[in-house]
Amino acid sequence: MTITVRFAPSPTGRIHIGNTRTALFNWLFAQKHNGRFIQRFDDTDVERSRKEYADSILYDLHWLGIFPDSIEYQSKRFDVYDQAVEKLKAAGVLYPCYETPEELDLRRKIRRTRGLPPVYGREALALTQDEITEFEADGRRPHWRFLLPNFASDPAETQRTEVHWNDLVRGEETVDLASLSDPVLVREDGTYLYTLPSVVDDIDMGVTHVIRGDDHVTNTGVQIALFRALGAEPPVFGHHNLLTTSSGEGLSKRSGALSVESLREAGVEPMAIASLAVLIGTSENVQAIDSLAELATHFDPASTSKSAAKFDPDELFVLNRALLHRMPFEEVRDRLVLFGIADERAEAFWNAVRGNLDKIADARDWWRIVNEGPLEAQQFDAETLEFLRSGFALLPEEPWGDTVWKQWTGAIRKETGRKGKELFAPLRLALTGRSSGPELAELLPIIGREGTLARRP
Ligand code: GLU
Repeated sequence: MTITVRFAPSPTGRIHIGNTRTALFNWLFAQKHNGRFIQRFDDTDVERSRKEYADSILYDLHWLGIFPDSIEYQSKRFDVYDQAVEKLKAAGVLYPCYETPEELDLRRKIRRTRGLPPVYGREALALTQDEITEFEADGRRPHWRFLLPNFASDPAETQRTEVHWNDLVRGEETVDLASLSDPVLVREDGTYLYTLPSVVDDIDMGVTHVIRGDDHVTNTGVQIALFRALGAEPPVFGHHNLLTTSSGEGLSKRSGALSVESLREAGVEPMAIASLAVLIGTSENVQAIDSLAELATHFDPASTSKSAAKFDPDELFVLNRALLHRMPFEEVRDRLVLFGIADERAEAFWNAVRGNLDKIADARDWWRIVNEGPLEAQQFDAETLEFLRSGFALLPEEPWGDTVWKQWTGAIRKETGRKGKELFAPLRLALTGRSSGPELAELLPIIGREGTLARRP
């Protein structure tokens, strides 16, 4: 059997780094097991779902290196869900209810005062045909509840009914179906809540492993019962902890905070996001990993902690720098071309500057500096000016070898007696306009003799 997973966001906003964790847990799991990854859009809520969001989620996933084997939209599958509804009705496990939210609220309060758990008391099962006709005549439409299998013969007499699953992340989990209300699967207006379409799709699409956030743990008992009611064996479930910011705040698709898009725009590399999204809140150290293939070898869902994974967004930039500082030219060549960094010096330039970049776009400033000189005109005091002028006069003739910087600064040292910082700091300022940056020994040949002389103060 092919291991099959799915990532199933509702397309109601851009995905954030927390959604990325779910997507990557699924993707890496599929990669490790040579499995299939289904991209499923839970867009049954047509009011809030948008095709543009679905498209942008696909874009973000591609950018991260996730390439779904198939893409499914729940909004195109209503007929399949309708068939499942008929099947459940025929089996007598989907029943119509007519309570208004206010009536339900009142009932819950009464149950609480009687010391009963605030679950739905299945009053609708006792409705007579006349009562139903009356409701319908009043213009009420039913919503439909799934009758949980938590009783022996009389649904009014629930009894403890444990559902167990061995969670990929959390280990043994148990839910007592008697502690839950019969879930509403279909609303008054005929629209579907998430539960039924999700289970129907998981069955239809051969999903073997449902890996998702632990906000769904409590849904799992109901879903397992629904799988069985539809005649299917439930898949394996895995519920990973959710990401929160350092202050404990959750992430939301709708707020746009820490969206993949905003991080990309801020210059964060996909592997910085992936490394953090996968490794935080596990027993592995958070470290910059160069590829998803390598990340897969560090990925073990069972090593994930059960409590929320707090992270500091600044960590993304630490990882980003680590990735850039060792990123091979081949990997950035095309992106540098987009910045106009395309001539025969591009590789030497990249190797010279990469250790000083927070993000790739910073290379543009260094390219300007290399080609045009300091971005702001430099002012030197008289003594430094004199030193620099005599130094520039000693610049070796071309052709330059690899050791030109050593040769030049050796000659300056000899002539002026300056060494160390005294020698290098003014040269760096004159050449780059910055007090720190890439190795000048590497930059100088890229600047060239003519360019260097043009910087002579
Ligand atoms: N659409 C659901 C969500 O985004 C999917 C949950 C699941 O993976 O079953 O929370």
